[in-house]
Amino acid sequence: MAQTFELIVDKIVENLREYITPPERYLSRELLRLIVFSIHKTLGEQGKVTGEDLYHVGKNTGLWISKLASGGDFIHSLKELVEFSNKLGVGEIEVERESKERAVLRVYDCIICRDVPKLGINICYLPSGFYAGFLQGMAKGYVSSSETRCMANGSDFCEFVVERREIF
Ligand SMILES: [Zn+2]
Repeated sequence: MAQTFELIVDKIVENLREYITPPERYLSRELLRLIVFSIHKTLGEQGKVTGEDLYHVGKNTGLWISKLASGGDFIHSLKELVEFSNKLGVGEIEVERESKERAVLRVYDCIICRDVPKLGINICYLPSGFYAGFLQGMAKGYVSSSETRCMANGSDFCEFVVERREIF
């Protein structure tokens, strides 16, 4: 069963290859947004899903999609993350600061936040997890991400601190 599941996921990831060129990306992007907000509505209202759950959903997705990238060290992985995130319509990322194991990412066109009214809280658990998963899939080790500023919380951009550490 686990193997069948992996095969299904691999097939979906392969299918995504066809969608990472414009203009289809806008369609897939808005469809993805609808699914995310539907998860929020159907499960969030019942208290069945938390921000942490969504972070892990994003992280798994990032890990799977990183199979399409070439792999490399953390700095190289950041470059590929910027490229993929842009192509997939997850958000246009600017790398604000970077070092060997830590970076600050700014997203001005966040898939979750754009068009969302000011809510007074940070809400981008899913993309935060996605960035962590993608970087972890590429650079190995363990990568975490936390959203430090959010457009839904009055900022002009969403900001994420991503950090990698070795697993011994
Ligand atoms: Zn945000």
